[in-house]
Amino acid sequence: MAKVYNFSAGPAVLPHEVLATAQAEMLDWHGSGMCVMEMSHRGKEFMEIIHDAEQDLRALMAIPAGYKVLFLQGGASQQFSMVPLNLAPVDGHIDVLDTGHWSKLAVKEARRYTGVNVVASSSDSNYAVVPDVASWQRTPDAAYFHYTSNETIGGLQCPFVPEVGDTPLVCDMSSDFLSHEVDVSKFGLIYAGAQKNIGPSGLTVVIVREDLLGHAQAQTPTMLDYRVHADADSMYNTPATYPIYIAGLVFKWLKTRGGIKGMQARNDEKAGLLYHMIDSSNGFYFSHVQAPYRSKMNVVFRLKDEALEDVFLSEAKKNGLMQLKGHRSVGGMRASIYNAMPIEGVKALVHFMEDFARQHG
Ligand code: PLP
Repeated sequence: MAKVYNFSAGPAVLPHEVLATAQAEMLDWHGSGMCVMEMSHRGKEFMEIIHDAEQDLRALMAIPAGYKVLFLQGGASQQFSMVPLNLAPVDGHIDVLDTGHWSKLAVKEARRYTGVNVVASSSDSNYAVVPDVASWQRTPDAAYFHYTSNETIGGLQCPFVPEVGDTPLVCDMSSDFLSHEVDVSKFGLIYAGAQKNIGPSGLTVVIVREDLLGHAQAQTPTMLDYRVHADADSMYNTPATYPIYIAGLVFKWLKTRGGIKGMQARNDEKAGLLYHMIDSSNGFYFSHVQAPYRSKMNVVFRLKDEALEDVFLSEAKKNGLMQLKGHRSVGGMRASIYNAMPIEGVKALVHFMEDFARQHG
């Protein structure tokens, strides 16, 4: 098998140790004689799997008592409707920070269920920065404040946690979940689609403060009510059993790698290598995002000579560097370097980019 490094934005590379364990346990999980995919979600084997996954996640993130951890489906996109349906009144409103593609989608969906005040937007700069806090037009009575900690498409990451006082803080953490330390107690609700730093697609993790449960709008479908899922320990209906099992293995893998602190140090180093190379390429490569806001998960960059982009991608592929094409809405390149991307992969990409610039510069 050819050695490749997969820079996909998601579904994305998973730790090879995790995949090897899953393979070894495929036909016989812990002597049960069953594959996890075949197990009843209410059987004692799967109950152990989901329980351990939750406990490991709680330990990794130091999730305080008073927060529920939910393993849901519907992707992060479903959270764009679930959050306002549960946390905002029909006749109320929310505050949202616009940092790009995913925050705009969150705004669009929330408008179906409540009023939306966009506190600030950096669309004027084509999302090269997170809007300056001093420019935010917050409202005192917002039901919650929503932001996207990492814009996966634009490559923009919010380098701080917004200070919003008593207003519940809600974060779409889909693409930087578990990549750096966060103080969960600052948040009312965190959600993240699994297919970047958690596991396979089909699973969405929600961490919600318990006092925010039980206030869903009357029109809320049962399946979109957090309270229903919280009361049933994520077993109201059949959960995404196999993705939960893989997520559990990923959490165990993280624990062996120094937890989130260990990951954060590695992620800083990986992103540092790549941005340093981009910045020292004499403009051959460039990033439109200003330095303090550059994503450490999704490194978005362009080539000065756009005509070289296709050659770049095909040469990269020949060198085992896969899925570097930027999102179709913004073009250019994107190297997603989530937790599971080893530093060797980033070094291989840096070497390739240096060689390519020498040949074509
Ligand atoms: N939010 C962010 C930041 C994302 O990166 C994505 C997907 O890439 C989504 C939301 C939507 O996630 P899903 O496709 O799981 O609905």
